[in-house]
Amino acid sequence: MKIVDNNPYHYNHLKMAKTFGECSFLGTFCLPSNDNLPITWYVAWNPDRSKGHKDFFGLGIDFVSPFIVGRDYEEFELLMIIPAIKCQLCQEVIYSSYRHDMRYCSCGSSYVDGGNIAYQRVGGQGKLGKLNLLLRTFKAY
Ligand SMILES: [Zn+2]
Repeated sequence: MKIVDNNPYHYNHLKMAKTFGECSFLGTFCLPSNDNLPITWYVAWNPDRSKGHKDFFGLGIDFVSPFIVGRDYEEFELLMIIPAIKCQLCQEVIYSSYRHDMRYCSCGSSYVDGGNIAYQRVGGQGKLGKLNLLLRTFKAY
């Protein structure tokens, strides 16, 4: 199984670690309040609580304005488990990051679209399930 990561803003994860301190790329998805505003999330391994830093931070661009948001584990735990599809042919796990984000697996027989909300798929080769971005696990429905 290979999880295909979405990085629509093409952020350089090493540069992020230099800028924001020890962190790891988590994935890219929308908050429920806006299903067409992808946010690229990172796990902050040593958040500076004295500065109000959270366990996770997300970066995005709203029209032309870059923004950063933070979330603590408790409020984020369920959000980082997102719908995904595992292709039964190439074993790739793919997910859609926002409403108009269509993604194909590398063999082309499965696709996802529609962000976190509604998925469609073709070819009958994809198994729908839940992807836990933190634990990197996929569980079919
Ligand atoms: Zn495939």
